[in-house]
Amino acid sequence: MGQPAPVPVHHPAAPDDAHRSVSQYQSYTDCPAAYFLARRARVPQAPAAWFIHGSAVHEAVEKWERSRRNASLEAVYDWFDESWTREYQNAADIEPDFGRWVHLGRSTVERDLEARYQRALDQLTDYIHVSLSDPYQPLVLDGQVAVEWEFTLPLRGGVVVKGFIDLLLEGPAGDILVQDLKTGSRKPASTLQLGVYKLAVEQATGLSVEYGRYFMAKDGQPGPPVHLGGYDFDRVSDWFAMMNRGVRIKVFPPRPGEHCRICTVSRFCPVNGPDRLPAA
Ligand code: SF4
Repeated sequence: MGQPAPVPVHHPAAPDDAHRSVSQYQSYTDCPAAYFLARRARVPQAPAAWFIHGSAVHEAVEKWERSRRNASLEAVYDWFDESWTREYQNAADIEPDFGRWVHLGRSTVERDLEARYQRALDQLTDYIHVSLSDPYQPLVLDGQVAVEWEFTLPLRGGVVVKGFIDLLLEGPAGDILVQDLKTGSRKPASTLQLGVYKLAVEQATGLSVEYGRYFMAKDGQPGPPVHLGGYDFDRVSDWFAMMNRGVRIKVFPPRPGEHCRICTVSRFCPVNGPDRLPAA
């Protein structure tokens, strides 16, 4: 028998210490070992249907927002389908064996993909209807709708956080709201993401941001606005500095828990992964 073919890397990306992101921070604090495997050792990551679902919904929503909410529902469905097809193909190229995908529940990956595709169309329909009647409307900055709004946030101590905010909204009284669209089934446990966005918008624009919210696609509506007053510049700077230090001095202990069920690098988990790497 020949050697098994090497498994290609899911999202090849060089370790990047030049800046941090909210997702790096969350990944590191969820499980430092998983962070190391995915972002430093760059082991192959297992695909999951929910990544395809999330990417395709976000891309369709972004294009609809960029159309200033003028594009038809049919156009949104077409954008969604194009993105879904591309994302699915990428995932299937990386890992054709559905048995190696991360998957929850009794259904098969094939059936989950079919169900998610239909559910995503309903979620897009709800997003458009709810957004059109929302008193909060997209903020326009420099002539552009602030969708997938790119930011660079230099923190105290030298850590720079970069990212994209799904949408900035403006209320009837001129108040600004940061919004993140979630396509997962669970409400995010933390509001840290919104808090970092608040600081990023305030620093870049001089506008004040008091509240943020998650738009939960599964509910077809945004959750209640969350007050973000607890996220001040010095506190967030300290948290990212701690995370940054941990990465730099290679503090990567495993943190087994409920989240292991959706871990994309569990094959290589130092606790009990069948392909775990040799101990350092
Ligand atoms: S399986 Fe759990 S403990 Fe292991 S790397 Fe993944 S998240 Fe961490």
